[in-house]
Amino acid sequence: VGRGDYLIRQRDEHRLDHTAAGTATAAPTTAAAQAAAGAGAGAGADVILDLVGGAGSSLFGHNHPDLVATARRCLDEQIPFNAQISIRPATAHLARRLSETVGATTGSRYVVTLGNTGADAVEAAVKHATVEHRRRLAALQQDVETTLRRLHRDQLADTPCASGPAVGRPCHLVLSEALTRIDAMRREDPVFVSLRNAFHGKSAGAGTLTHGANVPGDLHVPGPRHRRLTDWTPQRVISALDADFDSVCLLTLDAAGRAHSAVRRLSPVAAVFVEPIQGESGVHEVPAPTLAALRELADRHDAALVFDEIQCGMGRTGTFLASEPSQVSADYYLFSKSLGGGLAKVSALLVDERRYVPEFGRHHTSTFADDDFSSLIATQALELAHTYRARITETGDLLRRRLEQAAARWPQAIVAVRGRGLLLGVEFVLPQPDSGLLREAIDSESLGYLIAGRLLHTHRIRVMPTLSAPTTVRVQPSALLAHEEIERIGAAFEDAAALLARGQYATLLQH
Ligand code: PMP
Repeated sequence: VGRGDYLIRQRDEHRLDHTAAGTATAAPTTAAAQAAAGAGAGAGADVILDLVGGAGSSLFGHNHPDLVATARRCLDEQIPFNAQISIRPATAHLARRLSETVGATTGSRYVVTLGNTGADAVEAAVKHATVEHRRRLAALQQDVETTLRRLHRDQLADTPCASGPAVGRPCHLVLSEALTRIDAMRREDPVFVSLRNAFHGKSAGAGTLTHGANVPGDLHVPGPRHRRLTDWTPQRVISALDADFDSVCLLTLDAAGRAHSAVRRLSPVAAVFVEPIQGESGVHEVPAPTLAALRELADRHDAALVFDEIQCGMGRTGTFLASEPSQVSADYYLFSKSLGGGLAKVSALLVDERRYVPEFGRHHTSTFADDDFSSLIATQALELAHTYRARITETGDLLRRRLEQAAARWPQAIVAVRGRGLLLGVEFVLPQPDSGLLREAIDSESLGYLIAGRLLHTHRIRVMPTLSAPTTVRVQPSALLAHEEIERIGAAFEDAAALLARGQYATLLQH
């Protein structure tokens, strides 16, 4: 069973379970019931329970009726899809709702830039942070130049500094030195920070922030300057980039015209990116103290803290922001995936309005961004995130408990169950068969896909490994998952775990 085989079969069998498909009806389990439910699934269709969920995009299932109704209204009312340089109230409304929803937790207001995909939002954040950083240095340079001009005008340029680290040195020398260093930093590209095992997408910039997404080395192309934080210990995080600081002496003049010097640190760091729950690297929560340390790190460098909630946000973990329980706020938030309700391709960058570069949105445009179709669907998806909030927590808890039961029964096969709400991951033990041939067939790259094959062909359940940690199988059901299905999922995982624990590899390989 290779990756290709699995995908081909998926194309043959891509009719999905009704419950996962987002209707409120319970999943039909008998052939008769499936046939009766034929309207959506196709009469007599092979119904599959989808736990891949569009890699975390189908939080409201496939074709949720409220979202379909919204999409249909756009078509029935013939709302233009392409309407550049026109007023787009639906887009404005979505932006306002996003700002209010995140603001309800953080107390801030946000300016929203819409895009098309997750990576698109990441690129927009990289760009905005670059401009912010560049402008901050330019403003500082201007301040220093103004002070220097004043000193020359008042014939104080040669007088020595009255206090501070530059005491005794002529003012004009101190400020000229500062200008040289600020100018040098302005000429360098800014630095971006992300974490060990981060996943932020695969475009050039986002791909640089992403860590080891199982792509050959020569498929990585140079993006922005970058530092990776491998040690998440809070104290280490806070000081991790101290070596990147440069410092200059700046002067303030008192009423008597005396100059007082003080050290001002300059940092090349423009932004720190983090997924509050890392999805693609095997569903790992970044601990709250580490998130708080990242906040401190960003503040220390005057950089933007960016929470990439593209996969974990939108209510998937039971709170709208996965970062909410940590009580740490970011400067930028990124959303995509579930924001499009499984029907539209849309993403959003939210920037705290106090940091927003005013002309950014006018210059950062894309043909397909800001369309009414995606905006209306995304606004409806925000409503659904609210509607299903309690259900997501309840279903997530039940499902996690059932999967933990499976792990407890088969500790030889399952390492751990991780995650929150409907963003769960089950990590499997990599088996070590005696046969060299089997060891080659069942390696860390293939194991998750073999398990996915077993779950699909034997249990009609669709799962997929996480992208950069393929021994972890992701479990990302729709908010509408019927509770009766939880036992079926648990049993299917136990079956796969039993095969591995008993060394019945041939059965696992037979599909
Ligand atoms: N950020 C995170 C956290 C993601 O999980 C993903 C996709 N897995 C992305 C960014 C990139 O999104 P897209 O695939 O839409 O470019």
